[in-house]
Amino acid sequence: MQYRETLPLGPHEVVLTFDDGPLPPSSTKILDILKSECVKATYFLVGEMAQNFPDVVRRIRDEGHTIGTHSYDHPLTFHTMPLAKAEKEINGGIDAVSKALGNPAEVAPFFRIPGLLRSEAVENYLASRSLVTWSVDFDADDWFRHITANEIARRAISRIESKGRGMLLLHDIHPATVTALPIILKELKARGYHIVHVVPAQPGRPVTVTEAQQWQVAASSSARRTAAAAPRPTAPRSAAGSPRPASAKLTPAGTKTRRVTTGENFAPVGHELSLSGRPPS
Ligand SMILES: [Zn+2]
Repeated sequence: MQYRETLPLGPHEVVLTFDDGPLPPSSTKILDILKSECVKATYFLVGEMAQNFPDVVRRIRDEGHTIGTHSYDHPLTFHTMPLAKAEKEINGGIDAVSKALGNPAEVAPFFRIPGLLRSEAVENYLASRSLVTWSVDFDADDWFRHITANEIARRAISRIESKGRGMLLLHDIHPATVTALPIILKELKARGYHIVHVVPAQPGRPVTVTEAQQWQVAASSSARRTAAAAPRPTAPRSAAGSPRPASAKLTPAGTKTRRVTTGENFAPVGHELSLSGRPPS
């Protein structure tokens, strides 16, 4: 829907992301589930929530998840607000999460715009601050009122299967998501998927090596298979009229190295994807 680039994932690789928290008890139950499955996720925390629940922010860090940010108080006007206000929202969110953690260096340079309401000015600002703009490849409508956990899981799995790889957006603030998550993880495991943990590159954690082509969003898993050997310079991003977000942007995003982590209950091997800088061209 939004961008021509996504994370350079391999077949059957999924990145779990959680937006809008932290909000106990849902957030802490989600953490319990992730821990029991040895799965690492990427969080996009809201500054105001981090201020209210700093203990949960620290628990997310202590349990090894990646922490990015999602503005100070989640306004759904990023596409229309003056840039100065957007800057305040972005920086306010980062400051609040930094304070909760007690160390600004522990906040990943990853930002997801509330409601994915992008604008070029905001993206340029984020890029100028070396913040990676994240979108999503698929969601599961878990913020819909009255949606059941089974339906969230069904939508998550069918959307993941339709692409065969990508980043899933969930919200760790909803009770239905808490109930859906074990179903999603069990089903992904049964279908041979691996969860990839995305981390910011830093000293001792080198950027993963990738090729430009790996960042391109493909139309579907079948299209990707037939085009496996050839670059897809203008890969379509989603079916026309698709109501849901279908791609990711990682401006100034990076490259990857595959690092194998051990001790995974979820899969025999887990992967880590280390990001920074720009995709190779
Ligand atoms: Zn949000």
